[in-house]
Amino acid sequence: MKNIKKIAAIVLAVVLTALAFAGCGEKKSLTATEGKLVMATNASFPPYEFKEGENYAGIDVEIAGKIADKLGLELEIKDVEFGSIIGGVQSGKFDMGMAGMTVTEERKKSVNFTDSYATGIQSVIVKEDSTIKSLDDLKGDGSMKFGVQQDTTGDIYASSSTEEGGYGEENIVRYKTGNEAVLALASGKVQAVIIDNEPAKSYVKSTAGLKILDGSWVEEQYAIAISKDNSELLEKVNGALKELIDDGTVKSIIDKYIAAE
Ligand code: GLN
Repeated sequence: MKNIKKIAAIVLAVVLTALAFAGCGEKKSLTATEGKLVMATNASFPPYEFKEGENYAGIDVEIAGKIADKLGLELEIKDVEFGSIIGGVQSGKFDMGMAGMTVTEERKKSVNFTDSYATGIQSVIVKEDSTIKSLDDLKGDGSMKFGVQQDTTGDIYASSSTEEGGYGEENIVRYKTGNEAVLALASGKVQAVIIDNEPAKSYVKSTAGLKILDGSWVEEQYAIAISKDNSELLEKVNGALKELIDDGTVKSIIDKYIAAE
């Protein structure tokens, strides 16, 4: 009798173990690390993402927090160079990239994008006393240098040829962050900085002697980048995003950081 019980217990243990393993095979975790949503960003892009002491703040950070809550995941933020976000998402190192990131056809070849949650425009910052008075004064003839944040759409557009509407590769100076580009402008290393409008406003406010030229270059859509290999995550994030847009959460977060104009 004792032996039968023992054998039954062993058989049960083997069956349960087998079932557990089978379960693992079938249901893989939604994100790379069970229970976590790892977001890659470049936290030098106020008001979308910036550091407040040791913490991250901004529109993207708050929206991502709400998405993570809805998915029952813990948000973890990785602050990396803007140009390494797409590759990291593609390789599965990060679950998503959220960085005021513009949807472009080129990027769509590497990653999927969620629905858009905000609009951005490219602006031009110059010194207050600059001889550059309007967008028409911008020239790709070697008389001025343009500072951009490396790998952003501002970089891509500005460094295209004059025929394509840009100012030519040779007139572009690339910086790792928008902040560095703006500092270079303030110290006269470049004569204009091309960057998204909201960070532009933020930088102009925090740096003396700068202004934004009237008019905008291009209008863009911001969305979250997710690996092409994780369509389940794309679907879930889109679902959460839709709820947050529909119930006004996204709007109230944006309004909180961007004073209604
Ligand atoms: N919207 C721009 C882009 O996607 C800039 C984003 C950023 O610098 N964080 O390239």
